[in-house]
Amino acid sequence: MAATKKEPTRILILGGGYVGLYAALGLQKKLKAREASVTVVDPQPHMTYQPFLPEAAGGSIEPRHVVAPLRRVLKRCHVLTARVAKIEHAKHTVTVEVPDGRTEEIGYDVLVVALGSVARLLPVPGLAEQGISFRTIGEAIYLRNHVMSKLDQAASTIDPETRKRLLTFTFVGGGFAGIEALGELEDMARFATRYYETIDPEDLRWVLVEAAGRILPEVRESLGVYTVLQLEKRGIEVYLSTMVKSFENGHVVLSDGTEFDSGTIVWTAGVKANPILFNGSDLPLDERKRVKATASLQVEGLPNVWTAGDNAAVPDLSKTADDPTATCAPNAQHAVRQARLMAKNIVTVLRGGKPKDYYHKNVGSVASLGLHKGVADVYNVKLKGFIAWAMHRAYHVSRMPTFNRKLRITVDWLLSGLFRREVISMGQINDPKAEFDRTSKT
Ligand SMILES: Cc1cc2nc3c(=O)[nH]c(=O)nc-3n(C[C@H](O)[C@H](O)[C@H](O)COP(=O)(O)OP(=O)(O)OC[C@H]3O[C@@H](n4cnc5c(N)ncnc54)[C@H](O)[C@@H]3O)c2cc1C
Repeated sequence: MAATKKEPTRILILGGGYVGLYAALGLQKKLKAREASVTVVDPQPHMTYQPFLPEAAGGSIEPRHVVAPLRRVLKRCHVLTARVAKIEHAKHTVTVEVPDGRTEEIGYDVLVVALGSVARLLPVPGLAEQGISFRTIGEAIYLRNHVMSKLDQAASTIDPETRKRLLTFTFVGGGFAGIEALGELEDMARFATRYYETIDPEDLRWVLVEAAGRILPEVRESLGVYTVLQLEKRGIEVYLSTMVKSFENGHVVLSDGTEFDSGTIVWTAGVKANPILFNGSDLPLDERKRVKATASLQVEGLPNVWTAGDNAAVPDLSKTADDPTATCAPNAQHAVRQARLMAKNIVTVLRGGKPKDYYHKNVGSVASLGLHKGVADVYNVKLKGFIAWAMHRAYHVSRMPTFNRKLRITVDWLLSGLFRREVISMGQINDPKAEFDRTSKT
């Protein structure tokens, strides 16, 4: 009897974000032609480089340049635009919902779970109706247009209360995402007021609410304090150790009794692992509902299932000597490094080798607070102002996937340096059918 050719191993990657994209890139580079097939499933056709979302919202970078198109980058992989609905490892199948409404079952030999995290919501009245999160390119574009539209609306309103409400912008959550989004949007709106005859920068009210006693827990406390002082210098009101009790009808009520109306509410108060993991999977989870991972990035007890990034509880070996339960923080620094090691480990195991453990000591953090303003805590050195901001840009552009995107972002920065930032409002994008609907009624 003729020998049959061995079928390629089917590697299925759930999620095309940091971990999914970088793992797939590593695999397509290392795998031989018929060794394995790699399929990436994501409802979006692109990976989003989230640290650049604030700059995309602020108008320093063209939004299309902060995403990497999966099909173009992953030429040796299959890309499936679909949403994972169920993971049944017992059957080695994943159920996906495709855009036409059908569901499909996909089998696999090796699974990579890289579904990331979602915004952590709290039962605050009015949050679901009034709030918007800041995690996707769609939200960044929406917020930019929304903020600029509020200025346009305020400029042509005569009711002082309505005007005040339109010009009040509230951010909840003092982590990186919230602070950077607030810093960039405030900077952009303040710059834009020069083009409005009836709006002065002082007419805008920006409010930051944080439940903890400090902001930016990723940097040392003194830099958190410095950041608060910088924000306050710009007229931003910062409420620490304060909770939001209600957002009903855009009326904000804080736990210290402060009340005001706000036309914009941005919710960036933390993240939690993708709910698919506990609603629709049979994978082992920890108490925070993240997939339990070993230091080699395999799921505990399941050597052919791999995981990393925000949806995984990966032991942080740089800390476990002091705290045996320490796990890696949900950030891009870990996600990219874990994904690269994971690709190597998967290939090693496929070829009969032993995977390596993930070890990375956090080198620090950088954050932008708007144009030419930033904070950085890197290799135990604290930096502030322009130098920290420049470092933020240099670091993130070096991490942005593909040379094409790196170059486009650099050109965007050069152009916005030459011609100043773009402050045009494209509010129409947020309701594109309005004009057509009006016309069809006439
Ligand atoms: C605004 C913002 C700024 C940030 N800034 C920084 C920073 O400056 N420095 C830093 O280190 N970190 C930063 N982070 C955090 C960093 O972006 C995350 O830690 C990193 O993205 C985690 O990578 P991941 O692959 O686990 O998740 P993600 O990159 O989020 O990827 C998850 C992927 O899964 C997909 N997905 C979700 N649900 C499904 C489903 N049901 N089926 C299929 N696919 C699905 C998503 O579309 C996404 O592509 C920031 C995050 C945000 C939101």
